[in-house]
Amino acid sequence: MNLSPPSPRPALDAEPLSLLLEQLRRALSAEQVLAGAAEREVYAWDNTGVRHPPWAVVLAASQADVQQTLRLCHQAGVPVVPRGAGTGNVGGALAVQGGIILSLQRMNRIVEISRDDRLAVVEPGVVHSRLQAELKKEGLFWPPDPSSARSCSLGGNLAMCAAGANAVRYGVTRDWVLGVQGVLMDGSLLTAGGRTSKGVVGYDLTRLLIGSEGTLAVLTQATLKLAPVPETKRLLRVLFASVAEATEGVCTLMAEGETPTAIEFLDESALDLLRRSGAVAIPAEGKAMLLVELSGSQAGISEQVAAVVARLQRLSCIELLQAGAEEAESIWAARYALSPTLKKLAPKRINEDVVVPVSRLPELMAGVSALSAEFAIPIVNFGHAGNGNIHVNLLVDPANSEQMALVEPLLARLFQLVLQLQGSLSGEHGVGIQKQAYVPWELDPVSLRLQREMKALFDPKGLLNPGKIFPASLPL
Ligand SMILES: Cc1cc2nc3c(=O)[nH]c(=O)nc-3n(C[C@H](O)[C@H](O)[C@H](O)COP(=O)(O)OP(=O)(O)OC[C@H]3O[C@@H](n4cnc5c(N)ncnc54)[C@H](O)[C@@H]3O)c2cc1C
Repeated sequence: MNLSPPSPRPALDAEPLSLLLEQLRRALSAEQVLAGAAEREVYAWDNTGVRHPPWAVVLAASQADVQQTLRLCHQAGVPVVPRGAGTGNVGGALAVQGGIILSLQRMNRIVEISRDDRLAVVEPGVVHSRLQAELKKEGLFWPPDPSSARSCSLGGNLAMCAAGANAVRYGVTRDWVLGVQGVLMDGSLLTAGGRTSKGVVGYDLTRLLIGSEGTLAVLTQATLKLAPVPETKRLLRVLFASVAEATEGVCTLMAEGETPTAIEFLDESALDLLRRSGAVAIPAEGKAMLLVELSGSQAGISEQVAAVVARLQRLSCIELLQAGAEEAESIWAARYALSPTLKKLAPKRINEDVVVPVSRLPELMAGVSALSAEFAIPIVNFGHAGNGNIHVNLLVDPANSEQMALVEPLLARLFQLVLQLQGSLSGEHGVGIQKQAYVPWELDPVSLRLQREMKALFDPKGLLNPGKIFPASLPL
């Protein structure tokens, strides 16, 4: 099977493109349609560092703007790529086949916060942390917690089914959305789900759209399920002499008793970065660490901590400490800074986010360590161990062609290992253009065929975010 990446669509001739832009300016407003080289450059990037300048950019301010844009592009046969804040890690918001970037950032209203129904109705361009700040005033929060919260948009979170550290207890974006509105490529408006926490009429299109990476519909509104902010939290930091002992610790914590809110894992190299951040003093013999967060009521938290400590004391950890509130805050800040710091340390960092069933975590980490030694490529590992979701960061130098030639073979072996362990290629970053060659390794042929047929049903002309998720070479 040829799994080569999709080839770019030929650029539209200047005349039909300028006609389309003129129609868009008339339907929206002139200032909402950008076609200058500098403006297009701003929307040519995301967090992958891969560059694909679009033909033009439309700044939608309303659902009607989205409908008009899609309808006109559909008629003209021009691809459209929905875009939130552009923090995606897999190139999902890039115009890889040219076309129009449809920015949702101006659709940034928090339409409603209902305490009675514990829900919020939001537009897609709301920045994640802004929603959380508003909800906090009501004693509520929306549980998905990606590390990029200060910059990513809710639309991007839904499209990618984002998640973060507290997915151990709360689950992922998909678990916290009651309903969505979205616009199909032909401009028609789809409403899926609603305001109730139960509902079994028809297929669950809400869950289908979440995680669909902007390939089925442009999300224009979402109804989010909310949770009460826990009264209090505690953070335990647990140091181990080896990665194997730390990952066995994760298995123990997840197999018994109440589920912690978060269990984060850091290997030796990640620990070194934490040491350098000055957030916490870590003895030199420590080779791996778990950050275990617990949350609940003031009355019950001590009992919860005692139960987890008792479980941890059965393990051979070097140090088991409860962080004070201030220390906990700086440890979390340092943990969240790991990814951007790594990016600066190595000439190039390749960040995978594989996930395995928790009980297979020790095998995954042993396998990653063996691959790092075999290919002589440094790998830094940290992540959401309570979900079996580890960020595997390859540190490479693009100037070293011999080393770069080993990257794909190493990744192929990593993905084989993950699938052997009954895991998945991506826990939260998605496929985009980065992992599409490996998608047929994970999805069985029937599932793959149905998924391709679903895409064709939503978008028969293949114009909405083309060239993503599935390898172009696969027959429909
Ligand atoms: C420092 C850093 C830390 C990160 N940490 C995490 C993490 O902890 N967990 C995690 O899950 N991710 C993480 N990410 C990845 C990224 O932040 C998430 O995928 C986020 O959900 C993307 O949101 P965005 O608004 O930036 O989307 P964009 O990058 O703009 O778009 C991402 C995808 O969503 C689609 N899309 C965007 N808006 C819409 C819409 N309204 N309708 C339909 N499709 C749409 C785009 O077409 C694209 O395919 C991190 C990224 C960075 C840079």
